[in-house]
Amino acid sequence: MLELNKSLRPDISGIYRGRFAPSPSGFLHFGSLIAALASYLDAKHNNGQWLVRIEDIDPPREKAGASAEILQTLEVYGLHWDEDVLYQSQQSAVYREVLADLSQQKISYYCRCTRAQIKALGGIYQGHCRDLKQPVNDSAIRVINTFGTSQYNDLIQGHVTCNPELAQEDFIVLRKDGLFAYQLAVVVDDIYQNITHVIRGCDLLEPTARQLSFYQILQYKAPQFGHFPLAVTHQGFKLSKQNNAPEINKENPIPSLFAALTFLGQQPPNELLQANVTELLSWAIAHWSITQVPKSQEIVL
Ligand code: GLU
Ligand code: ZN
Repeated sequence: MLELNKSLRPDISGIYRGRFAPSPSGFLHFGSLIAALASYLDAKHNNGQWLVRIEDIDPPREKAGASAEILQTLEVYGLHWDEDVLYQSQQSAVYREVLADLSQQKISYYCRCTRAQIKALGGIYQGHCRDLKQPVNDSAIRVINTFGTSQYNDLIQGHVTCNPELAQEDFIVLRKDGLFAYQLAVVVDDIYQNITHVIRGCDLLEPTARQLSFYQILQYKAPQFGHFPLAVTHQGFKLSKQNNAPEINKENPIPSLFAALTFLGQQPPNELLQANVTELLSWAIAHWSITQVPKSQEIVL
């Protein structure tokens, strides 16, 4: 087993550790506020720690100034994090160590297949390059998915079943363009930061199955996962920076916080609309109930 968290405090056993892990591809919008708030409240209600990790491993998708802006907005919204922010762009040495270990154990391989080729072969990657000894250049690296986890218990969704064929694919850990893959970075950093609970949106339900397989491959205990429904537009699109979801109001956080709590099924009393951020969050921490979070989509735009 790789020692991924040797630099952290030796004994944190029994402590809840949650996190919010935004990609700095844009500013905080209502959808990401829900992710920040849900993970924060679940951590604080359980007397836990709440960390923020900036997932800046994809420079082409980054927006200048977004990281700083996200952090500033979290502060205005009263969502104060414990410990220093971890930037994935600073974690390359750790990711490389994991890639070297996988390669040494012969559970990863180079793959040159294009999306079009995989599509032509039925859309599911069947391990075509496993024994081909592809050259290193212009190749992605895939990990041999020995476990193929396709089901798990979710704190919000209950029993989740993913498409088994997709869940069993050998997945990419290093992209062809040389960038670290999301699956690699997210699992390695959740291990590195000793995360025990991951509360995030339902767009990551399927990737969770791969992540669970990856924990098994790396021989680490997986955190517990809880996926809240996505806030969608009338057309059924996920609220995102791409479809111009409105940026949340930085001068006046109360209405957005109140709306996010309501979205999460928490029924805040109307008086809280007159409260300040500290009062509203204290109420929300004390009254947080993950069992009240609805399972399915709600239209908000
Ligand atoms: N960085 C990812 C995103 O912003 C979230 C990753 C995660 O929560 O695991 O979509
Ligand atoms: Zn291949």
